[in-house]
Amino acid sequence: NTRARRNCAFLPLINCCMISTWKMSLLGMKRAAPLLKRNVPVHEAILMAVKTVEDDPAISSVGYGGLPNLNGEVELDAAYMNGDTLGFGGVMSVKNIKNPIEVAFDLSHYQRNCLLSDIGATRYAQSKGFAFQNMLSPESKKRYDQTDKMRDSEMLEAYKEHDTVCVIGMDHRRSMACGVSTSGLFLKMPGRVGDSPIIGSGLYADSEVGCAAATGVGEDIMKGCLSFSIVEKMRNGMDPQTACETALQQHLQRFLRCNHSCGSISVIAMDCYGNAGAATTLSAFPFVVTDQNFSTQLYVASNIGGKISIFQPDQGWLNSYRGD
Ligand code: ASP
Repeated sequence: NTRARRNCAFLPLINCCMISTWKMSLLGMKRAAPLLKRNVPVHEAILMAVKTVEDDPAISSVGYGGLPNLNGEVELDAAYMNGDTLGFGGVMSVKNIKNPIEVAFDLSHYQRNCLLSDIGATRYAQSKGFAFQNMLSPESKKRYDQTDKMRDSEMLEAYKEHDTVCVIGMDHRRSMACGVSTSGLFLKMPGRVGDSPIIGSGLYADSEVGCAAATGVGEDIMKGCLSFSIVEKMRNGMDPQTACETALQQHLQRFLRCNHSCGSISVIAMDCYGNAGAATTLSAFPFVVTDQNFSTQLYVASNIGGKISIFQPDQGWLNSYRGD
């Protein structure tokens, strides 16, 4: 579709086959790219990318070694959406499942009972033979032990390094899908669920149009069903970059109108032609793109005074980056 391509605001983000949130997803994306090159179905690439992040103890916001809740337990949310079938699966507030994204993917094959929480999700994962382990790493326990729970729990965004790995992909058959996984906010109340496993808020996939996903303060993202809103803008003819920026701007206007402060939010999107986009409220939101030659690169979206720019970071920028 030439119209969509010509409109794309940032030229390097065309001819893509995967896009993901945060620098932490770089290794997983590099592992997933060769799978897409071998023409595997899109879910295999997405699971590879997300599982790589979930398994890495050095990543403090997803999977093993994630951010503990107020009780000192790592409580995880994950979801998967198939853009061909609109099949959606998710798990919320699960504690000892090694790879929540695998269970979410499994659940996306069902039309009922596909979003399970806590004990129900755990029993389901046990019955299907998924791997279990204690997700609290020595590092995440240390972070919990060293934090003043009374002071920080009031703020809910006390520890700013909460993040979600979101991966959008398209395979050689042009099937699209999206997977997300997170430990949510540090010191969250046990049972608190963010936007990530909520269809339309944390993610949305429709192979006829495209996919979008969000990361940031879940309670605020949910107020605008941001991912669905971006996909619908693409359905109405916007390129992904404009759709991400417009949806985020409209969302912030809504908060202004209600006199309600909005936490940090970042979004990514890809349309069914392989054009990608990203927008953020932050001065630096790194994201990763794999192009149709299966080359994987890190980019940064930056919001300065409401204007979004996108650039490829150099070594100096990377050395000074203190984010995820
Ligand atoms: N959206 C996630 C949540 O609210 C956290 C994040 O992406 O930073 O649970």
